[in-house]
Amino acid sequence: MKPSITDAARNMGIELSQRGNELVGVCPLHQDTDPSFSINPDKGVFLCRGCNAGGDVYDLVMAVRGCSFVEAKEYLGVKDNGPTREDLRQRAIRNGLRGWCRDYLSTLVTLRNIYEEVTDPEFRASLADELLVIQHHIDILIYGTQDDKVALAREVARTPLI
Ligand SMILES: [Zn+2]
Repeated sequence: MKPSITDAARNMGIELSQRGNELVGVCPLHQDTDPSFSINPDKGVFLCRGCNAGGDVYDLVMAVRGCSFVEAKEYLGVKDNGPTREDLRQRAIRNGLRGWCRDYLSTLVTLRNIYEEVTDPEFRASLADELLVIQHHIDILIYGTQDDKVALAREVARTPLI
């Protein structure tokens, strides 16, 4: 998450006052007499109508302090070491799992609905065990934790139901 551009501006001594959705002040980047500098806090950007400077919180810090992007991040206390290997693994599991769960759930529900149409009692009885498993898997997909779903995905990979 990006640091607040409003906080950063105030910390660097820019006085701001509210005007509509924006905060305005005297631009620190040029000889400004009327307040030409404005911040849109919702978008996290600034713009100066006097000197045409603009950008996000990093651009603002870089311009006011005359520093590099890395230094601006340091100034803002942003620790950006990027995602760890474990973060990436978790993200892959979450994304992959989400897609798999959606597809598998859709298949199971379809199968269950088809089985529900069976009227022949004998045939129906022969499907009973499988229906129980289907319903159990559906419950895990809907109510289970991520760990439950991972375990289910592994189980289904080993012994596919369908
Ligand atoms: Zn300016």
